[in-house]
Amino acid sequence: MGMDRVLVGAGVFGVTAALELRRRRHAVRLVDPGPLPHPLAASTDISKVVRLEYGADEVYTELAERAIEGWERWNRDFGARLYHRTGLLFLRRSPPAPGTIEEASFEVLSRRGHRPERR
Ligand SMILES: Cc1cc2nc3c(=O)[nH]c(=O)nc-3n(C[C@H](O)[C@H](O)[C@H](O)COP(=O)(O)OP(=O)(O)OC[C@H]3O[C@@H](n4cnc5c(N)ncnc54)[C@H](O)[C@@H]3O)c2cc1C
Repeated sequence: MGMDRVLVGAGVFGVTAALELRRRRHAVRLVDPGPLPHPLAASTDISKVVRLEYGADEVYTELAERAIEGWERWNRDFGARLYHRTGLLFLRRSPPAPGTIEEASFEVLSRRGHRPERR
């Protein structure tokens, strides 16, 4: 068993860190005044978006891929659908041109094996 860890704040980052530390066999204390989920926490909401489209920023795109893998793992591990894969729709008034976030995202996502659609 590793050293005791104290994490302050049971929002999504504190909870994620606690789960990861537990997985690494550390004893974890998560401290929060409550109630949980706390009504003032940024994590507390009806919905949050996790998306892959970050233009030409490949590092951020990869982080988003890993985040989605993590949410899908949580769906399996907890036996509850916390994460819903819905797809994402971008709308523009003019056709996407080189250098726009839509065009760059389309190129990066296609190259990384995703299947974005253009209509
Ligand atoms: C309106 C809005 C929309 C957003 N939309 C998105 C989105 O679509 N996609 C996305 O990825 N991100 C989104 N974000 C950002 C995301 O919600 C935050 O980055 C994330 O929830 C932060 O989590 P956290 O655990 O750091 O903080 P929080 O969720 O704020 O949790 C902090 C916790 O610390 C506790 N705490 C506070 N003070 C103390 C103390 N002194 N001692 C002990 N505990 C304490 C609180 O009770 C709370 O439970 C959005 C944020 C907002 C505000």
